[in-house]
Parts: sequence; C-alpha cells; structure tokens
Amino acid sequence: MYRNFKTVDNVIFGKGCFSQFEEILAIKRTTPDSFIAFLIDDVFTNSDFRGKIPFYDNDILIWVNVDKEPKTSLVDSLTLEIQSKSKNLPSGIVGIGGGSIMDIAKAVSLMFTNPGSSSEYQGLDLIKNPGIYCVVVPTLSGTGAEVSMTTVLTGPEKKLGIKCDYTVPNQIILDPELIKDAPNPQRFYTGMDCYIHNIESLNGTWRNPFSDAFAKQSLSLCRDVFLNKEILKEEADEKLMIASYFGGLSLTYSQVGVCHALSYGLSYVMGLRHGLANCLAFNQLIEYYPEGVEEFWIMQEKNEIELPKNLVAEISEDKLDLMIRVAYDLDHMWDHAFGKNWKEILTLEKLRELFLKI
Ligand code: NAD
Ligand code: ZN
Repeated sequence: MYRNFKTVDNVIFGKGCFSQFEEILAIKRTTPDSFIAFLIDDVFTNSDFRGKIPFYDNDILIWVNVDKEPKTSLVDSLTLEIQSKSKNLPSGIVGIGGGSIMDIAKAVSLMFTNPGSSSEYQGLDLIKNPGIYCVVVPTLSGTGAEVSMTTVLTGPEKKLGIKCDYTVPNQIILDPELIKDAPNPQRFYTGMDCYIHNIESLNGTWRNPFSDAFAKQSLSLCRDVFLNKEILKEEADEKLMIASYFGGLSLTYSQVGVCHALSYGLSYVMGLRHGLANCLAFNQLIEYYPEGVEEFWIMQEKNEIELPKNLVAEISEDKLDLMIRVAYDLDHMWDHAFGKNWKEILTLEKLRELFLKI
C-alpha cells in the first residue's frame, strides 16, 4: 500500500514576502468575532520584527519560550490558555519561530478539535479530526517542520511525533529575511538537520525516485550554503530556506535513519536540542554514512564549528540504558537504515558503543 500524502495547501516564498501576511490572513477574518492566535518565539519579544506582525485587537498573542524542546504538557497548556480567552475557536493559529514553535503551532491546531492530552496522540494516524487552519513561518531553516506531516513532541513516556495528514500546515510563509539574524552555531546545527535528512533519506531501504529527487536538490543547495565561501549571505539564506523545504518533502516519502535514532535518545535523556544532537551523533557515524560524514567534517571546519566532546561518558548507567532503549524502539528508522531484518544488524551493545563515543 502506498501512502496518499497530503501537502501544504499554500506556499509563499521570497525576500520580504512576510509583508503579504496581513492579506493572506484576511480570508480567515470573516466575522467581527473572528480572531487569530499567534504563538511566537519569545526570542523576538524586543525585536523590530514584532511591529511587522499583522496582529489585530481581538487576536491572541502568546510569546513562547523554547529553551527546552516542545513537550506535550506545553502544547496542552497553550491550548487551554487560548480556549480560556474566548468561547469561540480561533479562525487560525500561527506559529512564528524555528522547528520548535512550528511544531507547537501544528500540535495546538490539532488539540482544539481532538479531546484529551496531546500525549495520547503521539504515534501514527491517531488523530481523528482535522485541526484548525494553521500557518507556520520559519525563522530558522533546516528542520523541514514547515512541510512535514509530523510534530515532534516529548511526552511523559517518549519523544515521538504526532504523525498524520492533518498535521501538515495549511499555509507557509518562507521569507529569507526572517532567518538572516539567526546566530551561528544555531544556524549551522539546524542547517545540518537538513543536510542529515538528505543523507539519511538517500541511504536506506525506503528510498525511491520521489524522495531521491527532493533530497538530491536539497543536498546541492546545502553544499552551496555551507561549502561555498564565495556565496553572498543573502543568497545563502534563500537557498537554505528552500533546502529545508525540499529536505522535508524528501522525508514524506522516505525516512531518517541511524543519526536521528541516536539523536532522539540524546535529546530525550540529556535535553539536547535536535540540531546539536544530530551533529553530535552524525560526527560518529563514518561507518554508516562515510561520504556524508566526511563532507560534514569539512562543513564544520569551513563554518568554524567546534562540537562538545565526551558528553555521554559522563552520564549514569541508568540514563545510558534509557538512551539506548529510546533509540532502539524507533523501528521505522532502523528498518529504513538496515532493512526488515535490522535486529540482526543493530544490537543493543552496538548502540551502547556508538553512544559512548559521543
Ligand atoms: P528551535 O526552534 O528549537 O530554536 C533554537 C533556538 O533558536 C531557540 O533558542 C530559538 O529561540 C532560537 N531562534 C529561532 N529563530 C531565531 C532567529 N531568527 N534568531 C535568533 N534566534 C532564533 O530550533 P530548530 O532547530 O529550528 O528546531 C528544533 C525542533 O524542531 C526540535 O524540537 C525538533 O524535534 C523539531 N523538528 C521537527 C521536525 C518535524 O518534521 N516536525 C523535523 C526536525 C526537527
Ligand atoms: Zn531532523
């Protein structure tokens, strides 16, 4: 059976296109009571960008802190907070920020129309009803969250996406101006998330011409951004934004692999951000992705990135065991990386050995 994927309904791309946001939202402001709920990364609280947000008096604006990766408890409390402010549902929800905020907005959109806690829906196709109209606006590029059918959340028991067709946003605004001030090394780590999505998508049993086409184009854009020292920053930002989008599209029809499985374990146990956790894991995967890892080392050097060392060696045995378990349970990633018989290739001992190198 092939999956009949849903894609984003509307995409606008180009430097300064955020200025058209008011016009785009106008179609949702149909009655005097209509309002939009904005969830915005609190890193922008005091920036000029704040004044450009098309915010009306009866809208709701919540600044969200994402120092920690999104939790199901945060999604639940934001949903309740918005519900407590109005007897009607918002006409739309907007998430402005990196992958964390985009995922939070996608999840809150679903929680308005599906009862209970978001943790009950972590998994594939558990959501029953479409969410409300959802717009996401990336201010960091690489995760592909703007286009993906998942919202990755850490719940009481696991870090796992709410994955289904309804999770795909309705509208995305891709304005390269919004990522121009993202600081290194965060820009690099999130950019490498995209690079690694492509390498993993291209190296596994689920790959196919559809996913390959997007991954190859995205990879070529990543190389321009992170290897070509002559490229103008403005052009690099445009390319990175599209690389992220294509990398995300590639994954809809393929899968991530060894690096992401390890990275989920690292983030769950050590609270490391996704981009950094990926870089730390990928750094040790020369055995599985030789060309990709060698190129990643060159990218690191060219972009003057120094990764922290010996992080896992310091943690307790219990935590290491949990990390191994979280990673091992991600069957779909291992299945893609090594095939149906992956358990014959990947042992718990091998996982321990890999983690201890990080
Ligand atoms: P992020 O959203 O976690 O943000 C990282 C840091 O950068 C935060 O401190 C944030 O405040 C700051 N920031 C964001 N934009 C900025 C800007 N323009 N200028 C200055 N600072 C800025 O980072 P991310 O790497 O984009 O997202 C990681 C999250 O995305 C993780 O939670 C991960 O699980 C998720 N993710 C989701 C998908 C998906 O398909 N849904 C895919 C990959 C990763
Ligand atoms: Zn990723």
